[in-house]
This record gives sequence, structure tokens and C-alpha cells, in this order.
Amino acid sequence: MHTTINKPMFLQATWNAPANIHTCITTSVNNFNIASHVNDDPLKVANNRTKLGEILPASPLWLNQVHSTEVVQYSTSSSITPNADAIYSEEVGKPCLVMTADCLPILLTNQNGDFVAAIHAGWRGLINGIIEKTIAQLSNYQAKQMVAFIGPAICQKCFEVDNIVFTEFKEKDPETCKYFILGASPDKYQADLRKIAELKLIRLGLLEKNISNRDICTKCNPQWFYSYRTNPKTGRIATLIWKD
Ligand SMILES: [Zn+2]
Repeated sequence: MHTTINKPMFLQATWNAPANIHTCITTSVNNFNIASHVNDDPLKVANNRTKLGEILPASPLWLNQVHSTEVVQYSTSSSITPNADAIYSEEVGKPCLVMTADCLPILLTNQNGDFVAAIHAGWRGLINGIIEKTIAQLSNYQAKQMVAFIGPAICQKCFEVDNIVFTEFKEKDPETCKYFILGASPDKYQADLRKIAELKLIRLGLLEKNISNRDICTKCNPQWFYSYRTNPKTGRIATLIWKD
């Protein structure tokens, strides 16, 4: 793929969303970090956000992501950077955005394009129910008509966790155990976060055929993405969705 210094490399979600739904996934190409909380040069981050803004109908509401299960609605948030890990909107032209570097970015809409939602889900958000809480906020809409995209995130082979994490999943949600395998070292497990997310979406009523879940690993593809597991001081990509 081709890119230039001046033109940031943006990707789009590959899924069966209706035509009024738009998506954007930024990359690490040309160090296009969009996070202001990772000790990057604030001017560079501001410049990257300006470039991202050029393709958007309005400013995103930037979340202060804290691995919580807080869900905010774009237009009713009382804070300019709410502490939350999911955001949704039923209005036209309101970009919902999450930042990630290995965690799962998940986008949601439905076959009518009635709403858009973006979720940041790491293992803690998954086990604590960020997906369930987001879908609960969207209870006006039928889950079987929802469409989901699970974006670039760390693959199972790259995501090794200790016994404490495995045990927490085993106790709180035994069905997720099938997505853990033994790791390379003793007492370590490799967790397939994207399959765990998919399991939860299906359990909530989404149809498997409406979930796009391609295994694109942020750690295996450093030329495209940031990886927190590779470097805890890394940048973030943004995954966005809006409707018109
Ligand atoms: Zn990987």
C-alpha cells in the first residue's frame, strides 16, 4: 500500500453496514498517534487530530478511557472528555471514537443505520461487561438486526496472561474458557479476546453472520499499528464511526 508524509493512511471497517454509516481506522503509519495521554509531543498529536478532523463531519467526543464499563451518549455527555469506554449516538454526523493499542475496538450499528457505537474492550472491560452495558443502552433496537465490526487488536498468540486473569474469566464467565490455551511458559495462558467478544455479542442476540471479526493483530503488524505489549509508551490508533 502507498502513503505519503502529508496524507495519513486511514483504513475502513470491512463489514455489512448500510450506506449511511461511515468508518475510519487510523494507523501508525508516519507515527500518526492520536492519543494525548501517552507522552507524545502535544503539537504533533494536535496536528494529527486536525488531519483526522478533515474527513469528519464534526469533532469526535474524546473519551478518557479507563477500562471501565461506562457508556456515554455523544450529545448528552456533561463532560468534554468523559471517563468512559464506550460511546454511542443516534444523531447524524456525530463521530464516535475509541483509541486502542492491542485492546479491541468494536463498532456497532444496525441494518437501518439507526445508531452508531464504538467500544474499547480490553480483557478487563470484557470480563466486567462493557459490551453487555453498551448493548443494554441500545435496547430500543433489536440485537438480531445489529451489525458489529471487531477491529485490529492483539492476536491470541501474542496475548499471554497469567493464571489470575484466566481464573477470573473462568469464575465470572466459564463459557469463555474455550478461548484460552496454554501459553509458552508455565502458568501462562493465551487468550483470544476477539473470540470472547464475538461470543458475548452472539449471546446478546447478534447473528454470527452480522459480526465481522478478521484476525488482524496489532502486535504482529508494527508497520500498521501500535502495540502496548510491544512498548507500554506507544501511541494509539483511533477507530471511528458516524452516520449521515
Ligand atoms: Zn499477534
